[in-house]
Amino acid sequence: MGSKQKAGRRGAGGNQAGGRSGRWLTGALIALGALAVVAVVYFSTARPAGSGKSFRVTGGETRAVLAPHQFGKLGAFMGYAAAQRHRDVMDHLYCYCQCDRPPSYHKSLLSCFVDQHGANCDVCQEQARQAGRMADEGKSIDEIRTAIDRTFG
Ligand SMILES: [Zn+2]
Repeated sequence: MGSKQKAGRRGAGGNQAGGRSGRWLTGALIALGALAVVAVVYFSTARPAGSGKSFRVTGGETRAVLAPHQFGKLGAFMGYAAAQRHRDVMDHLYCYCQCDRPPSYHKSLLSCFVDQHGANCDVCQEQARQAGRMADEGKSIDEIRTAIDRTFG
């Protein structure tokens, strides 16, 4: 009889341990869920649609784009050609090579192609090619801004 009681206590003890770990697991899941909610809220408010750097570019570059054919490298040629074809689009985009800072003070991605700057900058060229391709497809300036900011930002 005594041994039965001991066995019973051991059994109950085991169940209690199971209950404790179950509650711990539930608590951990609730904490994880809360963290996930906080993360989703944080990231959706930190980067809402239309908040990329290109949406703050006011542009206003007036100088002419250099003639593309003077550049021997295909990447440079295509960059200048895209800028020449879609001046207005390029003037609404931020250049992620950070040439808006000193000493260049570029107004927009268009500024990269009014002198030799764009000839040696892969970032400028890739942005111009992607933006030019999207403009050729008839995408809106805001669609292009969003894509460029997501790809290069
Ligand atoms: Zn640039």
